[in-house]
Amino acid sequence: MLSRCDVIVVGAGPAGSTTARYAAEAGLDVLMIDKRKEIGLPVCCGEFNASPEILAEALPGARGLDELLPIGPELVQRRIRGAVAVSPKGREYEFDLPGCTVNRDAFDRHLADAAVRAGTVLSLDTKFLGREGRRVSTNRGEVEARVVVAADGPLSPTARSAGMERNAVLAPAITCRVDGEFGDRLRLIFGSSVAPGGYAWVFPKRGCANVGLGVQRPAAPVPVLLRAFLARNGFAARDVQAGFVPVSGPIPKTVRENVIAVGDAAGHVVASNGGGIATAMICGRLAGLAVARHLLDGEPLDAYERNWRSMVGGELLTAARTKRMADRVLRSDFLIERAMHLLGGRGIRDMIVFGGLGITR
Ligand SMILES: Cc1cc2nc3c(=O)[nH]c(=O)nc-3n(C[C@H](O)[C@H](O)[C@H](O)COP(=O)(O)OP(=O)(O)OC[C@H]3O[C@@H](n4cnc5c(N)ncnc54)[C@H](O)[C@@H]3O)c2cc1C
Repeated sequence: MLSRCDVIVVGAGPAGSTTARYAAEAGLDVLMIDKRKEIGLPVCCGEFNASPEILAEALPGARGLDELLPIGPELVQRRIRGAVAVSPKGREYEFDLPGCTVNRDAFDRHLADAAVRAGTVLSLDTKFLGREGRRVSTNRGEVEARVVVAADGPLSPTARSAGMERNAVLAPAITCRVDGEFGDRLRLIFGSSVAPGGYAWVFPKRGCANVGLGVQRPAAPVPVLLRAFLARNGFAARDVQAGFVPVSGPIPKTVRENVIAVGDAAGHVVASNGGGIATAMICGRLAGLAVARHLLDGEPLDAYERNWRSMVGGELLTAARTKRMADRVLRSDFLIERAMHLLGGRGIRDMIVFGGLGITR
């Protein structure tokens, strides 16, 4: 492992690998570390990506989508045509939602490979332990870095080391795989007994589905809720993994001292649906470019904060507001049933996918 570099990126998920790729392409010495022994494993994700067209609609200010988001056929598990939202009483509301599912470990490896091809040095099984100024300590020794990128997920000890706030609401979520054929529509299942404060999902893949749920203030732990959901549907699960989704919107400040936060560490998640892969990559690209301009041209590092806020900040805040509003409805099956009936498929799509009410596209 390098003992000195321009940039150390902590976390080799979509945010870290994208940041590393753009910083390395600009000519910086980049070291990316991850505590995992293998990139992307174990998988803890629903593994769905909306199409670039949907993302361009949902995040109209985002730039670079064409470059970042085409997902090659080798990575696609199942092309998705649309979704069905299921109410507590079992009523179904269909809407269009083009996109695809992936194997998240292969997807993350693909992004990390691009960073390495650009010149990033990757060190796995390397855990961030602490930071003082430019000195970062890991289980493999100390590294001196001019800029430190916190891309280490929702709990981000790296962002904490600079005094950044943690996302105020971390929603517990759990996922697994179930064998079988599940068509080409996502299923999102609502109801307080299934997924209190959130939803359960069945996302079709090749020969299996990613099945899981995300909740808020659950009366029972997520493994118990998942077991009940699987039993109700006669599903047998493998590869169960639980994690957190930051759903209160971006943290107030993502640049402090020589540290910048990106992806889940910064709350770059569309809170109304819990998706954060695309926003991690969009903001990762901005982070890599901003670090390069800072170190090569002397631009202040906090230009990064202005850039991501002007590109996607408004939409992320709107989605977090929508999520808070929806939280009140999600407490009661009666209200969920009424709201879904009033919104219909199109309105449900606008709220979940675009994070806003009454948006006509
Ligand atoms: C159950 C679940 C389902 C989801 N489903 C979807 C979905 O279908 N679609 C979607 O778009 N989003 C989904 N998300 C959200 C999505 O997974 C995240 O938004 C996305 O992974 C954010 O990328 P990231 O690079 O910021 O963080 P991560 O992908 O979490 O990567 C962070 C990396 O940092 C590493 N790390 C952590 N701590 C340390 C440390 N101390 N030292 C070194 N390395 C460290 C981790 O090992 C990890 O590799 C889901 C999340 C969950 C929990």
